[in-house]
Amino acid sequence: MILHDRTPKLSIAAYGIEIPITGSNANRTLEYLLDQPDLAARKEEWLREEHFPPLTREAILRVHDPAYVERLLAEDERADREIERTFELVNPDGTYNRYDPARAERNLRALREQSLRLAAGTSRAAELAVTGPERFWFYFGGGMHHGQYDFGGGFCPVNDLVIAIRTQQAAGRIGNAWIVDVDAHKGDGTAALTREDETIRTLSVHMAAGWPLDQPERLPDGRPNPSFVPSDVDIPISPGEEAQYVPRLAAAMEEMEKRFGIPDFLLVVDGSDPYERDQLPSTQLLRMTREQLLERDILLYKWAARHSLPTTFVMAGNYGYHSWEVYAGFLERQLRGQLDTL
Ligand SMILES: [Zn+2]
Repeated sequence: MILHDRTPKLSIAAYGIEIPITGSNANRTLEYLLDQPDLAARKEEWLREEHFPPLTREAILRVHDPAYVERLLAEDERADREIERTFELVNPDGTYNRYDPARAERNLRALREQSLRLAAGTSRAAELAVTGPERFWFYFGGGMHHGQYDFGGGFCPVNDLVIAIRTQQAAGRIGNAWIVDVDAHKGDGTAALTREDETIRTLSVHMAAGWPLDQPERLPDGRPNPSFVPSDVDIPISPGEEAQYVPRLAAAMEEMEKRFGIPDFLLVVDGSDPYERDQLPSTQLLRMTREQLLERDILLYKWAARHSLPTTFVMAGNYGYHSWEVYAGFLERQLRGQLDTL
């Protein structure tokens, strides 16, 4: 089943930010699927459209530092500072980076609300998967894996993934869970937040170099940079190693299973930014074809199906006008039941 937020979303450009996130990949994927006559005819069976409220303070506090949450949710400039940091809008010398407030139609606190609404969908999709009866949910949003304990980064003000799992744990619906992150960028916030939490195991397949691994080893305040905290299993992929991506992911899933057993819930950060047609300059170190990415997604889907696991996939890393192609190819096969007979 697909979970889609009906609330209209503004493009990041509407906030005066010049990053190639078009905001339309969910809609383009949905349009493609609804253009298929066989899928359109039975859309009630696979599409659930809802209107989510933003994540609550209580939910965010399950994962993040109370002082940070206070600043982030403030109705004053403290929140603006946190959003500026999250979206990297200000250079060390105080000038703006990829940001022109004069061109903004909405302010940064509106961007915060939009981000927290997107993040809420991950919790909703996880709830739908673990309560059933449908066990597979693909949420058209989320994937804020760079959110750290007491600061946002990489366009992620909070970590929706860990929040979703802790919320289901708090409701008593699951004990342990895995977060399998196949976005081009390392799931650094996820790894750091769960470093001492044995109920959440993490696997990240990512570019061996580039952001977030090219940062200084220490934060400006002198603390060790949490981006370097390892996941339970990390699979760095160097340029030219794309053909090894899927076999290495398969081996990593086997290693996870051997070390930790089968979890109660699987959350997949299904980034489209390893795609060769992704348009964010910093993802160019990984150039996977559409076929390779389809193989990746099928591998994870089949693994979960084999163990009858409640599973949520979230979108992540949608930069530019082609990301939707990655999701459309996987979902049209999944919705037609073709993956269940492979
Ligand atoms: Zn990414």
